[in-house]
Amino acid sequence: MNIEIQTTAKSRLPEVDFDNLRFGHVFSDHMLVADYADGEWKSCKIVPFAPLTFSPAMATLHYGQSIFEGLKAYKSEQGEILVFRPYDNYKRMLRSAERMCMPPIPEEIFMEGLRELLKLDKDWIPQREGYSLYIRPFMFATDEFIGVRPSNTYKFIIFTCPVSKYYIEPVKVKIETHYTRAVAGGTGYAKAAGNYAASLYPARLAQQQGYHQLIWTDGKTHEYIEEAGTMNIMFRKDNRIITAPLSDSILAGITRDSVLTLAREWGYEVEERPVPVKEIIGYLEEGSLSAAFGVGTAATIAHIVTIGYEGKDYQLPPLEGRVFANRVLKTLDDIKYGRVEDTHGWIWKPEA
Ligand SMILES: *Cc1c(COP(=O)(O)O)cnc(C)c1O
Repeated sequence: MNIEIQTTAKSRLPEVDFDNLRFGHVFSDHMLVADYADGEWKSCKIVPFAPLTFSPAMATLHYGQSIFEGLKAYKSEQGEILVFRPYDNYKRMLRSAERMCMPPIPEEIFMEGLRELLKLDKDWIPQREGYSLYIRPFMFATDEFIGVRPSNTYKFIIFTCPVSKYYIEPVKVKIETHYTRAVAGGTGYAKAAGNYAASLYPARLAQQQGYHQLIWTDGKTHEYIEEAGTMNIMFRKDNRIITAPLSDSILAGITRDSVLTLAREWGYEVEERPVPVKEIIGYLEEGSLSAAFGVGTAATIAHIVTIGYEGKDYQLPPLEGRVFANRVLKTLDDIKYGRVEDTHGWIWKPEA
């Protein structure tokens, strides 16, 4: 497919204050926009980032056929663009699209579109420690029609945001035992917009109680730990890395996979199996849990310092002793910024 490129007349880059970047508030000069209609992808363009206009009857606003992805591009010391595992995001987007009854996005549009977009907005990738360019691909239904059925038209867009570190402070989480994020047979494994809308109210209640985030439990019994809703959750006990197994109620995080791969290589025992809340609380009560942390693209590793469960707060060990999580963070950063050899084939170079 031919990608038509229309460049901006005036870059907004000189206006950006890189010392005070707020996550998700600053958008690069260009975006990729592809349109689907009549059973095929009709066009693919790169245009200046700008508002779009829509009918109030646009299907996605009413029935929520909308999915997204999140990944990052980094700049090496040599000034090269490095993208972490974009093909895995592409494949996951196909799974999300299928579940939401949306058409598959051609690999060419996703990967070649991303290549052209990154080359064009290369200067927006900050060359600073801890900084990156967050990439947001998404697709939504655009039929101007009120009625519950799959849309016949869709838009696929990629825009990007320069970002600094995501979670600065370690997090205080609450284990949720009433509300549910995802159930067996549901859409939890898809990065579908509605999953996040449904999580906001329970998350707000937890925030009013002084927590930053929730740890979701299984929708049926609330006895097993699932994930954090934008991050997968892992626990370390001695030489073991414990995390919930993938299922249709868990999002298959690419960071999760990367962390478990490193853990296995380093000789840790990786346990992907149902994780009873009671087991974790038991470890916390006897003070034997070495660490708990969230893993996801935005933060890579989010250290957990407090876990709340049934009205009681449990404190975790100090961050300095968290050998595994700190080593993972450093190793992944070294790979992402091209400071060490990429032995896993995780780095994609759009300029190559
Ligand atoms: C995106 C996401 C994650 C983390 O996935 P990564 O690919 O590691 O960024 C975990 N859980 C949910 C629900 C998510 O949406």
